[in-house]
Amino acid sequence: MSKTYSYAAQSASDSLKPYRFERRTPGADDVQIDILYCGVCHSDLHTVRNEWHNTLYPSVPGHEIVGKVTAVGANVKNFKVGDLAGVGCMVDSCQHCASCAEGEEQYCENGFTGTYNGPVFGGENTFGGYSDSIVVKEKFVLRIPHKDNLAAVAPLLCAGITTYSPLNHWKVGPGKKVGVVGLGGLGHMAVKIAHAMGAHVVLFTTSPNKREDGLRLGADEVIVSKDAEQMATQANQLDFILNTVAAPHNLDPFLALLKRDGTMTLVGAPDSPHPSPTVFNLIFKRRSLAGSLIGGIEETQEMLDFCAKHNIVSDIEIIAMQDINQAYERMLKGDVKYRFVIDMATLKQEAAA
Ligand SMILES: [Zn+2]
Ligand SMILES: [Zn+2]
Repeated sequence: MSKTYSYAAQSASDSLKPYRFERRTPGADDVQIDILYCGVCHSDLHTVRNEWHNTLYPSVPGHEIVGKVTAVGANVKNFKVGDLAGVGCMVDSCQHCASCAEGEEQYCENGFTGTYNGPVFGGENTFGGYSDSIVVKEKFVLRIPHKDNLAAVAPLLCAGITTYSPLNHWKVGPGKKVGVVGLGGLGHMAVKIAHAMGAHVVLFTTSPNKREDGLRLGADEVIVSKDAEQMATQANQLDFILNTVAAPHNLDPFLALLKRDGTMTLVGAPDSPHPSPTVFNLIFKRRSLAGSLIGGIEETQEMLDFCAKHNIVSDIEIIAMQDINQAYERMLKGDVKYRFVIDMATLKQEAAA
């Protein structure tokens, strides 16, 4: 066992505070990682505050982890001490159901184990990346091909794969016109990745003042979604829409922008449902409304390699571990461009003090 220093919430009404616990000694298949950076995902906040009604306490969030390998088990083949390594949203799955067999562990029929708050289906709680180290099965550890800017790589482990996977699955690429709804942590990654895939990207935002940023990030057009006239210019034109907005909203104005056979995929998880869309908007053009959850481990590696090749990282603001509670308040106000990332050196200094 090794002593681990972290920040945890002890209850839904508690702020995050220092917490010590023990990680397992690396087993034969394990990789031990010294955490350098951890991104701050909206799911962290939902979990800490028990907004999905399944939180186990104490809760140590964090599933956008980049670090350095400090020990490997005897069976580990692809990592050695000193290598960079990443950990995303999952640390285990059943490994024998149909989804696991196809490398889609995020849809594991027996429930994957989350990097934090993992054993929703039974077992011991898992503690995530707001900590100085983590021990993870090699199968769930990612190689980091980026050479620098590692803090900005961390959000790829959740925000990156959450957007890459549906763009990849629905075959976004040259000749395709793709909509991205919302310019936040997920949306800004979707714009960058869809642009790099070669698609014509149309960003939909409620804020006219995000226009310049949208264009800078790679959008070809920016449409203010509250403006019915601007929306009408896109009617029946889009092959695919990635909707990253988690707040409940009317889906019909976006469905109406899809071509015949087009699909809109939702990746935000609202805490109360979206109003049901009008069936006419689906049947008259054989349109589909779909959902997508992160991505499998193999696809996450593919995404990291793709992002390194195309020089894609997240736009981030680095924070100290001690500023996390304040960062949550700012995140709730949308006051972040576009992801907070915790510099774990600040946690280690505190632990040593
Ligand atoms: Zn996340
Ligand atoms: Zn499975």
